[in-house]
Amino acid sequence: MTVAVALRSANISFDKPYTYLPPEGTDTVLPGTRVLVPFGRGDRVTQGIVLGEGGKAEENTKRILSLLDDEPILSPDEIRLALWVRSRYYCTCFDAVRLMIPAGLDFKEETVYSVCAEPSDIGGIKNEIAAYISASGGKATLSELRTAFAAPELGRTLSAMVRQGMLTTAEKTLPPPAEKTVRFVRLKDGSFGGKLSKKGAEIVEYLKTEECATVRDVEYYTGASPASLKTLEKNGIVELFEQKADRTLCPRICEDELLPDPILSEQQQKAFSGMLSLALSGRPSAALLHGVTGSGKTAVYIRLVRELVNRSRSAIILVPEIALTPQLLDRFYRSFGNLVALLHSGLTASERSGEWKRIKRGEARVVIGTRSAVFAPVQNLGAIIIDEEQEYTYRSENTPCYHAREVAKFRAVRSEALLVLGSATPSVESMYAAENGKYSLYTLDERYSGGSLPEVLFADMRAELRRGNSATISPVLFDEIEKNIKNGEQTILFLNRRGRNRLARCASCGEAVGCKNCSVAMSYHSANGRLMCHYCGHSEALTDRCPSCGGMLVLEGAGTQKAAEEITARFPQIKLLRMDADTTSGRTSHETILEKFRNGEASVLIGTQMVAKGLDFDNVTLVGVLDADSELCSPDFRASERAFSQITQVIGRAGRGERPGRAVIQTYTPENPLLRAAATQDYNLFYKGEIDFRRKMNYPPFCDILCLRISGETEATLNAAAIRLARALSASVGGEIIGPAPAPVYRVSNRYRLRIFIKTHDRKELREAVYGVLSDFRGDSRNRGISVTAEINPLE
Ligand code: ADP
Ligand code: ZN
Repeated sequence: MTVAVALRSANISFDKPYTYLPPEGTDTVLPGTRVLVPFGRGDRVTQGIVLGEGGKAEENTKRILSLLDDEPILSPDEIRLALWVRSRYYCTCFDAVRLMIPAGLDFKEETVYSVCAEPSDIGGIKNEIAAYISASGGKATLSELRTAFAAPELGRTLSAMVRQGMLTTAEKTLPPPAEKTVRFVRLKDGSFGGKLSKKGAEIVEYLKTEECATVRDVEYYTGASPASLKTLEKNGIVELFEQKADRTLCPRICEDELLPDPILSEQQQKAFSGMLSLALSGRPSAALLHGVTGSGKTAVYIRLVRELVNRSRSAIILVPEIALTPQLLDRFYRSFGNLVALLHSGLTASERSGEWKRIKRGEARVVIGTRSAVFAPVQNLGAIIIDEEQEYTYRSENTPCYHAREVAKFRAVRSEALLVLGSATPSVESMYAAENGKYSLYTLDERYSGGSLPEVLFADMRAELRRGNSATISPVLFDEIEKNIKNGEQTILFLNRRGRNRLARCASCGEAVGCKNCSVAMSYHSANGRLMCHYCGHSEALTDRCPSCGGMLVLEGAGTQKAAEEITARFPQIKLLRMDADTTSGRTSHETILEKFRNGEASVLIGTQMVAKGLDFDNVTLVGVLDADSELCSPDFRASERAFSQITQVIGRAGRGERPGRAVIQTYTPENPLLRAAATQDYNLFYKGEIDFRRKMNYPPFCDILCLRISGETEATLNAAAIRLARALSASVGGEIIGPAPAPVYRVSNRYRLRIFIKTHDRKELREAVYGVLSDFRGDSRNRGISVTAEINPLE
């Protein structure tokens, strides 16, 4: 008997099941077992996973070399899920398999480079690479080299070095990584005699003030590259070391600390019993739980999960971002204790695989996590609950770009379980499905506290501008903040995107300082005094002269930093907390900032979308939306939906306790109907307008949009490849093809980017045709160095 094996190293041009004989002396290998097999003409040892029965054994059928797992790591159901992910998201089978196995149990395959000749004066990048490898003990993996050298065409340079006999390569199957650690740097004792480069001196200066810092912080504050740190280490000036990451896992709870289940309100009860009967119906089903902010969706989830758990079934609860839902997490821990398992990217590899194993063994049956938890290896699935289902974090940014909602739907159908989509502002697609009877709709239109929704004031920023006031905070909002300070109440201020628009612009030529690798302007960060590219991470110290014409540079625009400065200037006596991607990158995490705010250590919390959702603080009675218009101007067809949701959510943070809340919306377009609908939290009004618009424009849910993204290093080869791709699509997929056209940001990390759109209907035949086109494209040698991905109904 033979087995079919999917290979880890396959790309989509040759990803298919390959037939192998079981290892010497065994009859068969169970599906879901990882194996090592010989592959290709050179019989290179490659990792694979057994999918099931293989084809007929031929004379030249090769034999599996060895098994990597004692028992299957995936069940037959999970293999079916992987095959579905492959066809739905145009990836290889193993790409899909890797979504389902925690990193701590993954055997990585890596190319390891070793130096054989001493670096000579061939000069340039090759010499630097050879020097780097020598400094790392004579060996370096490809991924280490990729982090150290952001050089374009690194792969090609390395191959050339191998051909020239400077390097040799070997493939290695690396065992799963040990405990996750963080890399630190500190100065070495003693004086440094040697001369330092300019960058080296800067790093040393920084470390003098910091005793010991994470490599990440040093890179952020000084713009140091991994190579410059390595050089300092080699010269004995600094030392690099690893330490276990400092972090908190949720506490284990004793039986007697568990909370009784919530007693539901009449509305909650109706939603709960409706959904419970769906979950127990023995048929696949889906429900949309539309509840205004503060209506108590969590209480409904808990009762539902309790009933399932009592019947030995399991549940998966997905949240948009773990750090932003401390309250929901805590509530589940206190309700289900050790039945809860947590899965998210903040866990160390070993914690993650620990949780994964507890789920697999059936010890944990209530899984809470971010999008990847949708793949949790639960058995006897009763329900998957997706909280705030419209959130963008449910779509993966890395290939395969799966959407957790779609994966959940597939799993619920296969397990005859219930899918619950919960939201204060459901996506238009979900509400449309509910209207058409595909989902059962349950509505909670009252706050649990019985309190009213916040009263909303508009601040007309146009009028302010006419008056010559260009401050970020309007007088209306200042007055309201002042009232709150007097009453000892707290305020949340919301401004989207970190460092937004804080550009350095030249007063003479008018140009904003751009990134050298990308076609975007860089953003100024006052925390480190640098201009940073939010696309590729490149950073430069701010200078006062324009790099292209030498004119004077001035800082313009507003970000959370500038708004914070205005508040502090006006109310010097109060304490303010800022939460954005900068303040949460280093030592101070989300949790500490939120904990401080909860304890009343600050009266104002200002931040990006991180403050917009999930928070439930009784003492917050005022919310300020600093720039409502920035939500409206994004170019894709989901812009309105996103803006409505974002603004409704953030306003919903106010007045959740006993005192009523209020909100101030600052805008240049106070008459905008979308803002009016968001102000009154009138979802139905918004939905009616939006669904009409989508119907008129033939946008989803009335059609599906297939998007292909293609990128390459030179414009000419990219253009030629894109045209070939468009032709192939037109021949085998059909439909109205739009493009190729430049992506909104045309160049990122020195790669040019184009897009092709097709309005179509997502069907199995379409997916197969697209898979075929991509596979042929990938196999065509003219397309070397060009990368292409496809996605249905992309979010941006
Ligand atoms: P949502 O997620 O719908 O915005 P939450 O689940 O955060 O709302 O609930 C809002 C508040 O009401 C929370 O403080 C929660 O503890 C409380 N609450 C909701 N339902 C109940 C209930 N049935 N019993 C007790 N407290 C409840
Ligand atoms: Zn860049």
